Amino acid sequence: MKILVLNAGSSSHKSSLFDLDPAANDLTPPAPVWRGQLDWSHQAGQVELSAHTAGGASIEEVIKTDSKMEGLERLLKTLHQGPTQVIDALSAIDVVGHRVVHGGPDYSDSVAISETVKTTIRELIPLAPSHNPANLEGIEVLEQLLGDVPQLAAFDTAFHAGLPAAAATYPGPYAWWEKGIRRYGFHGISHRYGAQRAAQLLQRDLAELKLITCHLGNGCSLAAVAGGQSIDTTMGFTPLDGLMMGSRSGSVDPGILIHLMRSEGYSADQLDHLLNKESGLLGVSGVSNDLRAVVDAIATQNPRAQLALDLFIHRLRREIGGMLASLGGLDALVFTAGIGENSPLVWEKASAAFQFLGLRLDPAKLERSPEDRDIAAADSAVRVLVIHTQEEWAIAQDCVALCQAQSG
Ligand code: ADP
Repeated sequence: MKILVLNAGSSSHKSSLFDLDPAANDLTPPAPVWRGQLDWSHQAGQVELSAHTAGGASIEEVIKTDSKMEGLERLLKTLHQGPTQVIDALSAIDVVGHRVVHGGPDYSDSVAISETVKTTIRELIPLAPSHNPANLEGIEVLEQLLGDVPQLAAFDTAFHAGLPAAAATYPGPYAWWEKGIRRYGFHGISHRYGAQRAAQLLQRDLAELKLITCHLGNGCSLAAVAGGQSIDTTMGFTPLDGLMMGSRSGSVDPGILIHLMRSEGYSADQLDHLLNKESGLLGVSGVSNDLRAVVDAIATQNPRAQLALDLFIHRLRREIGGMLASLGGLDALVFTAGIGENSPLVWEKASAAFQFLGLRLDPAKLERSPEDRDIAAADSAVRVLVIHTQEEWAIAQDCVALCQAQSG
């Protein structure tokens, strides 16, 4: 079965083609046969296209266009023409899976795209103004390019749709809840995958596990997963809540915003920029939103870089503690995404606060590795897993399930 996965963003698109045997029950995610990317972010009026195949062929080009349609059309051509050809024609694609950021409170799983689903995604644009329009456009462009191939939407919010009311509600006026101002949570595709993969690695039934999944990339969030369900999470109404991130502040006293509006005349757009683009590791260190650059700056005795790292770790530990309280126990702490997969420093510093639980790391395992693995000591009371997030593969698996449900 040939499955195209599209993650359409506001200034870049990432796409993969998987060729899966629906009968095979793969435990290890297979590499996509083709990967493609479009990036409009560097210069107005042009897009940088790149594609490569599992066989090692690649292509890179710059196309003079702002049009998402033209960019995607050209990208999809690299699937069936030229050096990166992996299929005979676009008609060979059996199903398309789209990553969609906001699915609202009602979708608790991936769904087949219909006019109703598109309307929901459109209605949610005010809640995800930089993501849902791009996701919707990606869906509509692929409808035009591929005809009536089945398409699926995998929502970043879906895994958290069943949050208990106390975890989902903000303690503002009740009218907020009625207006949809509530905690939705994000990174759900990654948290769900991390939890499922953790159960595989631990050879335990997910239904009996209490897990904290730590998605630490440019965006960072935690989920408390009990019996395979997200029961708490750090991101909320928007992906700005919770942990300190690369350039996002995470939770701050909302009184600060009122103060800045009153005393310095900040507008909504200025606050948006301040909190999303000028805060976090970048804002505190003044060096970078990339943890690697912050750590390099610490080596040159940069005190703000040191503060940024200390603050990142402090917030991470504090929020892990919050998830721990929501779960009332812990079988495994799961690290995933760019920082979570690659930073022994973060594993060590975050874990050190939980030694009182009997959590101990194995010093011999604190190295980066392409393998998903358990880095806890043999006698640790809590397992600590490093899992490479596979959001595209998770979406591809949902596509297989959709096709099987539709045909059977
Ligand atoms: P996104 O959230 O955009 O998908 P990623 O999950 O790819 O991002 O994470 C990107 C971040 O991961 C980088 O900004 C950097 O901070 C961090 N990162 C990547 N590799 C390393 C590493 N070896 N050590 C520490 N941090 C790393």
